[in-house]
Amino acid sequence: ADCAVVDFLAPLLVSAQAIAQERNLQLQAEIPPNLPLVRVNIKALQEVLTNVIDNALKYTPAGGKIFVQAGQEKANFQGIAISDTGPGIPPEDLKHLGERHYRGVQAQTEIPGSGLGLAIAKQLIEQMQGEIEIFSPAINSQLASPDAPGTTFIIWLPKVERVRS
Ligand code: ATP
Ligand code: MG
Repeated sequence: ADCAVVDFLAPLLVSAQAIAQERNLQLQAEIPPNLPLVRVNIKALQEVLTNVIDNALKYTPAGGKIFVQAGQEKANFQGIAISDTGPGIPPEDLKHLGERHYRGVQAQTEIPGSGLGLAIAKQLIEQMQGEIEIFSPAINSQLASPDAPGTTFIIWLPKVERVRS
C-alpha cells in the first residue's frame, strides 16, 4: 500500500517508548512532516521495524540512548534510521548478520534471543524492494559521534513514483 511513514512508525514508537522507560533508556524520535509516501507491505514493515528497534532496546545498556529518525533520503528510497549508543557490532559479526540463528558476541551473554530477528527483517524488506543498511563505528568510524557510538540501521523504503502529467 502507499502510505505515510508517520502512520506506521508512530504506533510502534509508543510501545517502544514504554519499554525504553522500563529499561532506563532515552528514546528520541524525529518524524519530519510531509514526507513523500512509501510503497510498502505494512504488516511486514511493522515486523521489520519492531525487530530492529527491539535489538536497539535490548543490546543498549541502561542509561543509553536510541534515536529513530525518519526522512533520510537516497535516490528512490526514503529511509528510517535507528541508532543506539550500545556496544556496536564487531566486523566479524557484521558479515554474518541476516543468517538465520546467527547471534553475535553481544548476545553470548545472558541477553535472550534466537538470532532470527534480522534474518526475517532482511527477507521481508527485500520482498518489498527495500534495503537494510548497517553501520557500526568499528568499520564506519566517520559515522561515530559522541552521541551515537553504537549501531545505526537504516531501513530504506521505495518511494511512491510521482505520477507524470
Ligand atoms: P532474536 O531477534 O531472534 O530474538 P537476536 O536479537 O540475537 O535474536 P538478531 O536480531 O537477528 O538476533 O540479531 C543478530 C545479532 O546481531 C545479535 O545476536 C547481536 O549480536 C547483534 N545485534 C543486532 N542488533 C544490535 C544492536 N543494535 N547492537 C548490538 N548488537 C546488535
Ligand atoms: Mg533481535
